[in-house]
Amino acid sequence: MSTFANAVSDSSHLVTLPLTAQQATEEWRDEPLIFELNNDGAVGVDFPNVPPVKQRLGSMTRTSPLPLPNISEPQVVRHYTRLSQKNYSIDSGFYPLGSCTMKHNPRLNEKVARLSGFANIHPLQPLSTVQGALEVMDTLCHWLKTITGMPAIAFSPAAGAHGELCGMMAIKAALEARGEHRSIVLVPESAHGTNPATAAACGFTVKAIPARADGTVDVAAFTEALSNDVAAAMITNPNTCGLFEPALKEIADKLHAIGAYLYCDGANFNAISGQVRPADLGIDAMHINLHKTYSTPHGGGGPGSGPVALSAALAPFAPLPHIVQENGQYTLKETDAPLGRIKAFQGQFGTFVRALAYMMTMGSDGLKQASTDAVLNANYIRKNLANDLTLSFDGICMHEVLADERFLKNKGITTLDFAKAMIDKGFHPMTMYFPLVVQGAMLIEPTETESKQTLDAFIIAMKELVAEAKAGNVALFKNAPQTAPRTRSDETAAARKPVLRWQK
Ligand SMILES: *Cc1c(COP(=O)(O)O)cnc(C)c1O
Repeated sequence: MSTFANAVSDSSHLVTLPLTAQQATEEWRDEPLIFELNNDGAVGVDFPNVPPVKQRLGSMTRTSPLPLPNISEPQVVRHYTRLSQKNYSIDSGFYPLGSCTMKHNPRLNEKVARLSGFANIHPLQPLSTVQGALEVMDTLCHWLKTITGMPAIAFSPAAGAHGELCGMMAIKAALEARGEHRSIVLVPESAHGTNPATAAACGFTVKAIPARADGTVDVAAFTEALSNDVAAAMITNPNTCGLFEPALKEIADKLHAIGAYLYCDGANFNAISGQVRPADLGIDAMHINLHKTYSTPHGGGGPGSGPVALSAALAPFAPLPHIVQENGQYTLKETDAPLGRIKAFQGQFGTFVRALAYMMTMGSDGLKQASTDAVLNANYIRKNLANDLTLSFDGICMHEVLADERFLKNKGITTLDFAKAMIDKGFHPMTMYFPLVVQGAMLIEPTETESKQTLDAFIIAMKELVAEAKAGNVALFKNAPQTAPRTRSDETAAARKPVLRWQK
């Protein structure tokens, strides 16, 4: 008996309403839930009539049908395709989200990650059958060690924040091995929220270090905060204002002089990959967001991967297992190192494959060129919008440029309104209200994969919006977005009265 053909060819299962253009727009905006598309009697698959089987479930036997929608295969396909088209994505347009490094990921790396020998292996397979996979990790390890100048890489952290946890746990273990219990971690005010959260999760007390007027760490305030109770500092470089921290080596030396460690948040490594080696800056531990810098599609929750580069002082405290080569065979070694495992298996393998494929196709010259171009693109935007936006800091920026809301002063328009209007211009908004060191932050990161044409289109759109704001066209901003699947939502109601479940 035919199954699929039956459902597809029976057009009575399809809803064919004559829609006006206006209705079509509304339909598109308000795609019903799949339950609301229920079309009694419609099916995606016809099963042959099966003779009744002996029930062995006793009182567990279902007595009424499951409340699943009746729906044909074309309806299902169209429903989910329409939903997917509501998404703004890096594949559909420019996504200048600062600190996130939303860049194009070469499809070749996807293809390599999907090769059956990589995609269909299991972490519990005998090691003799996954020697190639372990070699991929070992080769990636070699690249990361070369790029960072650090002697050890911990692979298992599942993302940047998990890498921070791993690095700070290693620092705590190193202190404990010396018989010391230090309680303070210094964190600059511009830090990503994960930094203080990680320090607190490890049981440390966070002490905030202010930024100087130029956006970099206030070294005088930092030096004043040093004491024998300081375990570490967590510093992002380039920092979240898009600025290289020029005093990082000096900060590292000061920490080491009192027996403390320097954790560097390496999420912004896209700006300096191949340009400067973290080891030369005196860093003891630094996570690298493979999913930001080294080619893995991210956003919306994954997949991430945050390997941590560790200095010689911290390498003995790396989590398990360790990949070692014995008699020409790779093996996973467990030791009695204090952290034990921090994740069930060896880490996000698919992301390792993508990262290595990216590095090998780019080559070391290519990686250096990528960071050069990322910085060039950010500065192209900075220079072209310098008279339109109010830039927060003077001078050259790294891979992202920071502006604030001063240019909107007394206009009745906020950073949020401005961001919503950018959607109507066809662009994903930049990062807003982060970092917290400036009022109404607008953090723009173009990345190296955007063309001059795209950057020019973005600059023109931004200039037009700034002109509208300066002319006092408040409604254009307050009513934005008009062109998105959802117009302005009530943010308070969305937080206070969320509708999380479909009910008839
Ligand atoms: C993205 C980011 C993190 C956290 O990384 P995840 O992979 O999202 O956990 C930490 N710090 C900075 C500066 C970041 O941009």
